[in-house]
Amino acid sequence: MNSSKAEWVQMDRDYVWHPYAAMHSDLPVFPVKSASGVHITLEDGRELLDGMSSWWCAIHGYNHPYLNQAIQQQLQSMSHVMFGGLTHEPAARLADTLVKITPKPLQTVFFADSGSVSVEVALKMAIQYWAARGESDRQKFLTIRGGYHGDTSGAMSVCDPVTGMHSLFSKVLSQQYFVDKPVSRFGESCQNEDLLALEQALQKNLKHIAAIILEPIVQGAGGMRFYSADYLAKVRALCDQYDVLLIADEIATGFGRSGELFACHHAGISPDIMCVGKALTGGYMTLAATLATAEVGETISNHAPGVFMHGPTFMANPLACAVANASIELLLGTEWKVKVKLIENWLQEGLKRCELLPQVEEVRTLGAIGVVELKQPVDMKVVQPAFVEQGVWVRPFGKLVYLMPPFVMVKADVDKLTQSVYNVVSQINHA
Ligand SMILES: *Cc1c(COP(=O)(O)O)cnc(C)c1O
Repeated sequence: MNSSKAEWVQMDRDYVWHPYAAMHSDLPVFPVKSASGVHITLEDGRELLDGMSSWWCAIHGYNHPYLNQAIQQQLQSMSHVMFGGLTHEPAARLADTLVKITPKPLQTVFFADSGSVSVEVALKMAIQYWAARGESDRQKFLTIRGGYHGDTSGAMSVCDPVTGMHSLFSKVLSQQYFVDKPVSRFGESCQNEDLLALEQALQKNLKHIAAIILEPIVQGAGGMRFYSADYLAKVRALCDQYDVLLIADEIATGFGRSGELFACHHAGISPDIMCVGKALTGGYMTLAATLATAEVGETISNHAPGVFMHGPTFMANPLACAVANASIELLLGTEWKVKVKLIENWLQEGLKRCELLPQVEEVRTLGAIGVVELKQPVDMKVVQPAFVEQGVWVRPFGKLVYLMPPFVMVKADVDKLTQSVYNVVSQINHA
């Protein structure tokens, strides 16, 4: 370790908060020197195979020549201008593309700077929509337990109440309506009991409900579960029947991860409002967007105050929009659907043997997502270095050890990831 590196690592220890972490924690944080393709290189020279796509984002791998070129080219003309009263080609082209590739009735695009903010924007749109229709009592949301929608207050209020720590923030979080998540799994048709509570909650609280918000098909950080497409279709039908908006949070699922370009496609439905983020820029920059139907957009615009009340400082950052355009072009220019299916098969094949381990509760895969749910939460102090020892970057949380590799990964590398998961999980002490 050279002295300057020792120095900045110490600065990190002294002053930097990491996500969901304590100050001066004894959990390891690994210094990274660079990342390229499907590898992350640590400062000490060790090369780790990336099993996380940096939390769903880096679908094309790191340091991609085409994405580098797009961002460098944009940098030559402008890195940023304010979006109030000004506009630029990267944003306009990205909006056009998003409207074309998302479910048809979505016709307007509001750019935000992170997934959580795009969820705040979605909630505010739904509230303003109802206010415009003269129903300003409709300011609450109905959602299913086990969800994750981000870390800001509005988003947190619709996260799972337990994992979202609602009691800790009870004075500031809006009280929303929760029902149990569906028991019907992906690939199964929906059982009636799944919808009963949802419909009852709608009937009982209709005057106050602006929208149902959920993650379509894949509940991500709230538990990595894959639920019935039939359920999603029936939720859409209930929203129509009761005249409630449907907000689909596709921040994790968007851009192919679940095997369809957007998870809503599994059910053939379109939401009234949809959030995208994460893989939008291929993991290069922070950018998200909230899309809405013309009906939502026009209703808000045609009634007092006549504008939508939101406007982030870094809205539609040109560097982020340019790299997003390049990332989507790259994705759609490949046989991504075939590739994601292959990865699904490799994950399934490679993780299957984990089912036999006494530590394991269940193994499940969908698209380029492979999940090994354990019986007990992992000890990160032990498990995180164990994965690094295996030469892979896998970051479990709670009882979940999961893989979501970049789409560019070849079979030998996916095999190495699944083998490492088996090796590490089998070493965990169990009762
Ligand atoms: C990650 C995530 C968010 C929050 O996005 P940030 O960019 O972290 O603010 C919201 N919803 C879902 C489904 C996510 O996976």
